[in-house]
Amino acid sequence: MNRVRVIGSGNAFNMDGRAHACYLLEDRLLLDCGAASLLRLNSLEVDLGKLDGLLLTHFHGDHFAGLPFLLLTYQYVLGRTRPFVVLGPAGLRDACRALLDLTYPGVELSFPVEYRELESNVFSHFSGFDIFPMPVTHKKESVGYRIKWNEKTFAFSGDSAYDSLLFDLVHSVDLAIVELSMYENDGSVAHVALSQIRDGSLQAKRIVFTHVFNRLAESARAEQLEVAEDGNTYEF
Ligand SMILES: [Zn+2]
Repeated sequence: MNRVRVIGSGNAFNMDGRAHACYLLEDRLLLDCGAASLLRLNSLEVDLGKLDGLLLTHFHGDHFAGLPFLLLTYQYVLGRTRPFVVLGPAGLRDACRALLDLTYPGVELSFPVEYRELESNVFSHFSGFDIFPMPVTHKKESVGYRIKWNEKTFAFSGDSAYDSLLFDLVHSVDLAIVELSMYENDGSVAHVALSQIRDGSLQAKRIVFTHVFNRLAESARAEQLEVAEDGNTYEF
């Protein structure tokens, strides 16, 4: 059985106390790590020592700004010695190094941090996962992922507009976690709105919506949609 745990189901504003975007695949790969993710990782008692790496969708703070706190925890709390691998789209190395330099200038880590910039539409293999990045419409570097292990496929949208790139990303996967940010979208914002998903273009075996606030989550549930909560585990 494959397991994905929701660490943070919230948007950039931590509305209703929901944590920033962060998901745990099995117990060894983190998918996105927003500024406030470490707080929820610790409150859920996730064993950070088991993580092999972090996979990022894009460089907005609610998806990647938790990296410095994670690395500092490895350095000063857990005494990590083995490498930590950060994977993501083109620009990953520069974005992460700029973030580290700004938040903790001069810190020397005692363990290797390896940055792997993944090519879109090409499979990469890491920690037992087959990772397939696909561009989505949000920021210029934004990708979503199809990730396969144990013969099952999981998709994560990151942040995305509601368009054919997103439909292709989630098509026929066993579990898709898809962002839902608002009620209505006039097309000016690259996020998914509740009014848009009613057209049924998202076709996956199971879809869980995330990146929400409570009122939106309740409205979605009233339409028989499944919505994530911090700490939920999904098996498929
Ligand atoms: Zn974003």
